[in-house]
Amino acid sequence: MKFGTKAIHAGQEPDPSTGAIMTPIYQTSTYWQKSPGDNKGFEYSRGTNPTRKALEACLAALENAKYGLAFSSGMGATDAVMKLLSPGDEVVTGNDLYGGSYRMFTKIFSNYGIKFHFIDMTDAENCRKHINEKTKLIWIETPTNPTMKIVDIAAVARIAKEKNILLAVDNTFASPYLQNPIDLGADIVMHSVTKYLGGHSDVVMGALMLDDEELYKRLWFIYNACGATPGPMDSFLVLRGLKTLHLRMKAHCENGRQVAQFLKIHPKVDKIYWPGFTDHPNHEVAKKQMRDFGGMISITLKGADLKETYRIASNFKVFALAESLGGVESLINHPVSMTHGSIPKEEREKVGVTDNLLRLSVGVEDIEDLLEDLKATLA
Ligand SMILES: *Cc1c(COP(=O)(O)O)cnc(C)c1O
Repeated sequence: MKFGTKAIHAGQEPDPSTGAIMTPIYQTSTYWQKSPGDNKGFEYSRGTNPTRKALEACLAALENAKYGLAFSSGMGATDAVMKLLSPGDEVVTGNDLYGGSYRMFTKIFSNYGIKFHFIDMTDAENCRKHINEKTKLIWIETPTNPTMKIVDIAAVARIAKEKNILLAVDNTFASPYLQNPIDLGADIVMHSVTKYLGGHSDVVMGALMLDDEELYKRLWFIYNACGATPGPMDSFLVLRGLKTLHLRMKAHCENGRQVAQFLKIHPKVDKIYWPGFTDHPNHEVAKKQMRDFGGMISITLKGADLKETYRIASNFKVFALAESLGGVESLINHPVSMTHGSIPKEEREKVGVTDNLLRLSVGVEDIEDLLEDLKATLA
């Protein structure tokens, strides 16, 4: 099946009791057993729920994976992957990560005896220098948040395979419509479903997709034992959102392209980060592993201090100043004070997260209104 058909149908059958086309919201915590253990495969909704099960099958299909696991947030999904590790283990990861991942690694798992190496991942060979016999996991994000660097997934996967290390990819920014890390050799794909997959800024959810049965069993054990699993109503909302993922992504990419081209030559814009430009330092890798370049764009404002950046960020009429991304509505984010507030100043400035940086999540509104808003606010 092709992508759009999977987005609409995968994991979903007409409801056996009524024929309902849309998967019902099985709003139940527990299930009747005829005699102890004699049930229909559902016992308690922390572990299994029919609405969530349909969603997990659809999520897996979209990443060309065998298994999907939905979590109550993207961070809940990341947390489950980290719990595969033991004290003394080491992780090699990027130096340009989602702020919440950086915070979890440095403030939580570092206290449990796990060591993290934050390195430049845009040169895959660079990670060899940081791998040793204790390295159990490579965690990458591409495109990176917020500076849109691209990591060569296939090249990192070759190193991970050679060294027998798990490779997990945070695929939130690309969405499965643009990029499928498992096809490129990754072991685990992680999504903040909150973003493009949910797509309507109304649900917080995370997911893991993977192929290996043994690894799936270990992760399912953590998922059920630790319990960061989403409820049936949220599962339903995401199943509904997914049905238009391919249509929304096409529109995000098209609007993203036009906004990027507009901003590239705007006199108020100093740097622009968008992997679709041929002069983006990782454009060739982006072209190789992504089907298009998406609607995430970051810019720095020429000569703007923090106060001026705040003024501009607060003046948009169509773009809403907010955290998050990937919804139908256009959002503007100030990483330093919002999503990346937990990263120390010297760390973030090293990777370009400066006071005058703004990140745009270009939505699917009419392009004329988006360009008009940018023109008026940046004037
Ligand atoms: C939002 C986000 C997360 C965290 O997901 P939540 O659903 O907010 O917990 C992780 N990685 C990236 C790239 C994100 O944008």
